[in-house]
Amino acid sequence: MSEVLHQEKSMIAIEQIRSQFPILSRKVNNQSLVYFDNGATTQKPKSVLDAIQKYYSEINANIHRGVHTLSQEATDAYEHSRKTIADFINAEHAHEIIFTRGTTESINLVASCFGKKFVNAGDEILVTEMEHHSNIVPWQLMCEERGAKLKVIPVDDNGELILSELKNLLTSKTKLLALTHVSNTLGTVNDVKEISSLAHKNGTAVLVDGAQAIAHTEVDVQDLDCDFYCFSGHKMYGPTGIGILYGKEKFLNEFPPYQSGGGMIKEVSFEQTTFTTLPYKFEAGTPNIEGGIVLGAAVEWMKNIGMKNISAHENELLQYAIQQLKTIDGIRIIGEAKHHASAVSFLIGNIHPYDVGVILDKLGIAVRTGHHCNQPLMKHFNIPGTVRASFAVYNTMEEVDKLIAGVKQAKKMLS
Ligand code: PMP
Repeated sequence: MSEVLHQEKSMIAIEQIRSQFPILSRKVNNQSLVYFDNGATTQKPKSVLDAIQKYYSEINANIHRGVHTLSQEATDAYEHSRKTIADFINAEHAHEIIFTRGTTESINLVASCFGKKFVNAGDEILVTEMEHHSNIVPWQLMCEERGAKLKVIPVDDNGELILSELKNLLTSKTKLLALTHVSNTLGTVNDVKEISSLAHKNGTAVLVDGAQAIAHTEVDVQDLDCDFYCFSGHKMYGPTGIGILYGKEKFLNEFPPYQSGGGMIKEVSFEQTTFTTLPYKFEAGTPNIEGGIVLGAAVEWMKNIGMKNISAHENELLQYAIQQLKTIDGIRIIGEAKHHASAVSFLIGNIHPYDVGVILDKLGIAVRTGHHCNQPLMKHFNIPGTVRASFAVYNTMEEVDKLIAGVKQAKKMLS
């Protein structure tokens, strides 16, 4: 991601973009808000807020059920959004796009269904040391249930996967490899395409946690050739409570149902139930209709700006932030991978990240502090947590300057 970015920088009309985000003009502690917690959740543009309002004021109805006009309009909008999202990640079929509550639910769905169908006692699942807890715990629980073993690809001290280990870790028993596309703490961009290819040569399926990649880079699931790709609406300028599981048709068709109830059946009797086709087989009950429709609006918003332009601008911010942080005595950057995107993590000497976060908040600057749901990774670096600044397309160089000034002030006050 990093190397192609600078040439695009003039394409972003930053003030025009910022004006679309009402929240960016509010004050926090009497200071202009500087929002660098985009890895946790992004702010929402007006077109997304308008789409929520429009849905409830114009077409609210349950979908896939009614013959009446509102139900048909809501169904069309929901299915149109599914198609928009399929195109956005270049899925082969719209029915490979399953609406879920978010990345966490998408991973749980695959862990549960893949486990039941394909994992037996003695089999192995591979994850990496940089995974978010959401991409560890579901596999751990499934392994316990199936009598399988969880194995881990280690990271080096730059925060890169040690891929030479992968060859030893992939065995004839490795059923699935689950890895993040971009690390939420380190910002490391993993070479998913290469890793996928190695795994597939071994007959191992690949799940990618795309939570921290989808809003920052172009994603083409056919080019990556992963079997599953998971992401959350709220980290890509859309609403909370909605997310996506992309899964290759061949796997999703073979999976047993995840949840059951209305909407996912073909025929029900007290003796036996048969299930409907994709994608509805995995969308039991009334879904988050508003969320699904509005996620399509968020994708349209990103497409309008252009993913290349978003990547270019964010990379400029990231490189500048890293360069400026390094000028501060005692700063330790956690995660210096060659391919780095979306976030920078750091520590100031022995100062606790929480204390830095509190001082930055007093200055109106929102950053994340703590273990970022990466406790095994924190253990690797032998640290309690980090301060993380994570970027979105609406952030500016001036905001990076404010962050740097704030970090200097925090250092002075806490040293
Ligand atoms: N994976 C990664 C890499 C993440 O950063 C996050 C969110 N912090 C998740 C998974 C979980 O996403 P959600 O809480 O939206 O399900």
